[in-house]
Amino acid sequence: MNLQAREINKVVIAGGGTAGWLAAAALSQQLGRVLDITLIESDEIGTIGVGEATIPPIRVFHKLLQIDEQEFMRATAATFKLGISFENWARKGDRYIHSFGRNGKPTWMCEFHNFWLRSRELGVESELGDYCFELQAAKAEKFVTSPQLEINYAYHFDAGQYAKFLRRYAEGFGIKRIEGKIKEVKQNGESGFIDALVLHSGQIVEGDLFIDCTGFRGLLIEQTLKSGYENWAHWLPCDSAVAVQTELAAPAPPYTRSIAHDAGWRWCIPLQHRVGNGLVFSSSHLGDEAAKEELVLAIEGKPLTSPRVLKFQTGRRRVVWNKNCVALGLASGFIEPLESTSIHLMMVGVTRLMHLFPFSGVTQSLMDQYNEGTRLEMEKTRDFIVLHYHATQRDDSEFWRHCRDMSIPDSLAHRIELFKESAYAFQGADELFRVDSWTQVMLGQRILPKSYHYAARILSDEDLTKFLADYRASIAQTVARMPVHQDFVNQYCRSSNNVWN
Ligand SMILES: Cc1cc2nc3c(=O)[nH]c(=O)nc-3n(C[C@H](O)[C@H](O)[C@H](O)COP(=O)(O)OP(=O)(O)OC[C@H]3O[C@@H](n4cnc5c(N)ncnc54)[C@H](O)[C@@H]3O)c2cc1C
Repeated sequence: MNLQAREINKVVIAGGGTAGWLAAAALSQQLGRVLDITLIESDEIGTIGVGEATIPPIRVFHKLLQIDEQEFMRATAATFKLGISFENWARKGDRYIHSFGRNGKPTWMCEFHNFWLRSRELGVESELGDYCFELQAAKAEKFVTSPQLEINYAYHFDAGQYAKFLRRYAEGFGIKRIEGKIKEVKQNGESGFIDALVLHSGQIVEGDLFIDCTGFRGLLIEQTLKSGYENWAHWLPCDSAVAVQTELAAPAPPYTRSIAHDAGWRWCIPLQHRVGNGLVFSSSHLGDEAAKEELVLAIEGKPLTSPRVLKFQTGRRRVVWNKNCVALGLASGFIEPLESTSIHLMMVGVTRLMHLFPFSGVTQSLMDQYNEGTRLEMEKTRDFIVLHYHATQRDDSEFWRHCRDMSIPDSLAHRIELFKESAYAFQGADELFRVDSWTQVMLGQRILPKSYHYAARILSDEDLTKFLADYRASIAQTVARMPVHQDFVNQYCRSSNNVWN
């Protein structure tokens, strides 16, 4: 059913944060010849200024846009990321790394961790992480990119600089930028479709398709089109964050740190010129002022900014493509910062839009396809995040007792049960996180399987023990030869504000 018969030529992007400029970059580079694209952003409002850790698919997106890695890293003072170090999550004093690497070598019948579980019965003392190259490199704070070495990685970068980098890139493909604050959204009296955005200056910006990247405000998708929001606070208890930037106190490790506190968790994201820090917390368990104090006490380097509190509601926009408006970024929903999925979801969102672009008019089937794809992806990603909170043995604070005892989505409960009983872990269709991620986090959160797949008993005890010892040794040798992460960054992509000169 065609809801808007006219052709779509003029695209207006409202908002110039990470989401707005990502959409602008991708659309202008891929479809700039057939679309007229304008972006409106307000310097007065500014951007949220957080969102500096990513996951590996960003490299695929950059490749699509033909972004040069070294140029991008220099411009955004970026460092490499091989995973996340989780500290104090299942129990105080625990530490595990959720890395972007694969766990050993799977067989067609079962995943590698089954062999590792068998080896424990045989008395082999090793961690599952000893069989994961990226995890060992992260632990040793080593990094290198080379055609001879397959390594799965992402980046940490300066969010403000990233938006600027994408802006320069999109402007190179002819995108028009208007600086100004949107005052009013004009809708068609009959269809309710958006006709134009009116700025405080009086300027009217007309369009055929509008991309709402106005952040939590959701100026078009919610304030105008009332698309609704599904709240996930009952599964994701944190609703606030306090952020502060600090000087680098030590060379940057190639991982994000995620340290559990009594009423939430703290991130440390090391860049070339500073560290981004933040405490994500539940306002039912900790007040804003107390959170600020807790963060300031915990940070390691000298503060460069004052602590800034941000409020959010976890959940998803019920309809992300509504009439002739598609929401991206925070305007489309927010799972929460743990595991750094939002920028990835923006990239998937804009890619999906390019696949389903309504060139000859908005139709119900295009909208349905887009909305369903987004819903599934958000829900599956959400389950992975809820796992971290729920699978805890901490009972030292009200917050952790709440997380441990809260109900969880049935889909997640099933997955945990399956792993506990049989060590079976899986990556479902359209799921972002691989089986290696599920396994590393479930084991890291102390979910220990009662049994395992007996394909792991096919090898003799001696052969299995020798195979595993050789595997560990080969990873250890490769890691030993790699440069220190900070040294590699300094020579490969040194930014002008790099502090290790
Ligand atoms: C605490 C926290 C930590 C996060 N960490 C990560 C992370 O590590 N990794 C990750 O992937 N994601 C993270 N996110 C999520 C998200 O990726 C980032 O916050 C990201 O920077 C959001 O970008 P955005 O473009 O959606 O929103 P914003 O940065 O808020 O941009 C909104 C834009 O809209 C404009 N605007 C708004 N109203 C108007 C108006 N009336 N007129 C004109 N312009 C207007 C603003 O000026 C701005 O340009 C985090 C989120 C939070 C809250």
